[in-house]
Amino acid sequence: MSTIQQNLQDVRSHIAAAAQRCARAPEEVTLLAVSKTKPVEAIAKAIAAGQRAFGENYVQEGVDKIRYFSQLPAGSGLEWHFIGPLQSNKSKQVAEHFAWCHTLDRLRIAQRLSDQRPVGMSALNVLIQINISDEQSKSGIVLDELPALAAAIAALPNVTLRGLMAIPAPETDYQRQVAVFGLMHDAFLALKQHYPQVDTLSMGMTDDMAAAIAAGSTMVRIGTAIFGARDYT
Ligand SMILES: *Cc1c(COP(=O)(O)O)cnc(C)c1O
Repeated sequence: MSTIQQNLQDVRSHIAAAAQRCARAPEEVTLLAVSKTKPVEAIAKAIAAGQRAFGENYVQEGVDKIRYFSQLPAGSGLEWHFIGPLQSNKSKQVAEHFAWCHTLDRLRIAQRLSDQRPVGMSALNVLIQINISDEQSKSGIVLDELPALAAAIAALPNVTLRGLMAIPAPETDYQRQVAVFGLMHDAFLALKQHYPQVDTLSMGMTDDMAAAIAAGSTMVRIGTAIFGARDYT
């Protein structure tokens, strides 16, 4: 068994255990494999181990990988999620190639994604990124801004508002992790009341997935625990 295959098995068991500890069904939590900086060979191993949903942070790198796998039999049925910061000059590439975008925090970009989504492709699934605790971060809106942005995005024809995403400031204490993720879950439940198509709460990474699941995450984004540490040099 490859290391990646073994890691995926371990992550899946970890998710199932975390879900069971809080009386949730493991199937309520989708595993998004974050493959940024990793070669197509590593992704191919994850696909061979049954993984279908992949997250990428850099537009060009992600599009290159999507093109590569679209030509292979093994690449059929994959679902690509854009999870990095998105500038408006790159929105067209995301609209044309990805199935999901997790990092919407401006109406202007949502409008571009909707305008640029090719005819014949299903609507782009989008999540609004919330800046829930990290004051240093420039990404994400504050919760006060959510009702207005959600209403404007929900009115766009070629994107579907599916929920919320957050990257909290790093925190090692489990209870404090749960408390911050809990604020996201409250906002998610409130949003669901207005928009029946909202079903996705994207939160939890390698170091905080258990707390995220305890607080109601429906999608964890896991890189390091599957593919190993990243090398940015
Ligand atoms: C890199 C990244 C991840 C994965 O982080 P790990 O700690 O490696 O699991 C998840 N979400 C986002 C938005 C990322 O940029």
